[in-house]
Amino acid sequence: MIENENKENCCGCTACKNICPKNAIEMKEDEEGFLYPNIDKEKCIDCGLCKKVCPIINKVPNKPPIQQEAYVVNNKNVLVRKQSTSGGAFTAIAEYVIKNNGIVYGASFDNNFNVQHNYTTNINDLQKFRGSKYVQSDVKNTFREVRDFLNAGKMICYSGTPCQIEGLKKYLGKEYENLITVDVVCHAVPSPLVWRKYLHYQKKKLKMNNIIQVLFRDKSKYGYKYSTMTIKADNKIYQAGVETDPFLRAFFEDLSVRPSCYNCQFKKQYRVSDFTIWDCFEVEKFDNKLDDDKGTSRILIHTKKGKKVFDEISNQFDYKKIDVDDIVQGVKEMYFSVSKNQNRENFFKDINQLEEEEFFNKYFPDNIKVKVERTIRKVLAKLGIYNKIKKVAKRILRKN
Ligand SMILES: Cc1cc2nc3c(=O)[nH]c(=O)nc-3n(C[C@H](O)[C@H](O)[C@H](O)COP(=O)(O)OP(=O)(O)OC[C@H]3O[C@@H](n4cnc5c(N)ncnc54)[C@H](O)[C@@H]3O)c2cc1C
Ligand code: SF4
Ligand code: SF4
Ligand code: SF4
Repeated sequence: MIENENKENCCGCTACKNICPKNAIEMKEDEEGFLYPNIDKEKCIDCGLCKKVCPIINKVPNKPPIQQEAYVVNNKNVLVRKQSTSGGAFTAIAEYVIKNNGIVYGASFDNNFNVQHNYTTNINDLQKFRGSKYVQSDVKNTFREVRDFLNAGKMICYSGTPCQIEGLKKYLGKEYENLITVDVVCHAVPSPLVWRKYLHYQKKKLKMNNIIQVLFRDKSKYGYKYSTMTIKADNKIYQAGVETDPFLRAFFEDLSVRPSCYNCQFKKQYRVSDFTIWDCFEVEKFDNKLDDDKGTSRILIHTKKGKKVFDEISNQFDYKKIDVDDIVQGVKEMYFSVSKNQNRENFFKDINQLEEEEFFNKYFPDNIKVKVERTIRKVLAKLGIYNKIKKVAKRILRKN
């Protein structure tokens, strides 16, 4: 029976819950809002399967598979690229699967803007998966569904964080030729509790009626390189950048993220997935022609199956093949876990004790420093030099 005394040792993938032959495991939310397995000892027969499938107990070594291949890509479909976080790499892979009568799994919002995994068989419905949701997605019973679909011969594309993909593959326990997996390079995942509180706080503060859309990385106003959090309600629109928006600040300051993300076992170059996709802000480094500030994805292909799919969809992209060592160079989110913010403990204590407004004002005051930073970023973004200045500033800070 699986027991987790240290929360860093559980990424919440659900492999243990889904494998349990007695349905003795339930995923329960803790006081920080993250899901962990909870075992009904009365039902448990001590078969040990839950331990056998846990991707953290059974670590996959970071060792070379077949020769990897790497590309930077822009999806040729303008609307798809606009709605996607980076260059629309995911949609091209997903469309390939649907065109082959397959099923695509990804993270989407429910009616209350909670993030959860579900599936579609319809190309028009893929829109719900587009766009990174910076909240841990609840994968529910999807692993069992996927196994049943695979055994029935269906082609499946399953997308998610690297820990979700390793969890799924451990749960399945064997390779399926009809399964295509896509993971992202993953900074970390924020708490669903912080997300619910934040959304409620914004709705009240801004006197919003019904929220109709949320975009964590809206490129429409300032382009790809300085994207904003956007909340659209039927009576108003809220937009704010990373230096201002409380939810994005909590995420990028590594305050609101899952304990396992501080000691992530899935940050590596060689993965169990077929594709790893991620941002490419420094497009000009690879190809000036692809740099139009509308979003570019990096794709790292790990398997023969991935290569075959890429060859079939490459005509949907403007793209360039890149040397693997060059594409991964300097990508720290691929290799290193985020560091724990010193205020994390107080942050999660306060979120359950303070009123929402008091809580968000305490940790994310809209003071002069924030206002000045916001104005500078916006002006630089409008002038199209935000990314260049950011790089120079980073270099100077590193030297000091
Ligand atoms: C939590 C998270 C952290 C990330 N951190 C980084 C980073 O540090 N550096 C970097 O370069 N890129 C990061 N990415 C990846 C990046 O944001 C884009 O997802 C990637 O560039 C692919 O873009 P796209 O245009 O092809 O896909 P899009 O069309 O934007 O597709 C989004 C894909 O991400 C999946 N997804 C969205 N939200 C979630 C979620 N909450 N949980 C699991 N899967 C989700 C969807 O299922 C879909 O497959 C992160 C993504 C997520 C979800
Ligand atoms: S040991 Fe077996 S029965 Fe017990 S919780 Fe784990 S999987 Fe379920
Ligand atoms: S990491 Fe996954 S399999 Fe391991 S205990 Fe957590 S939820 Fe279960
Ligand atoms: S940082 Fe690691 S543990 Fe955290 S969500 Fe990403 S892959 Fe999972």
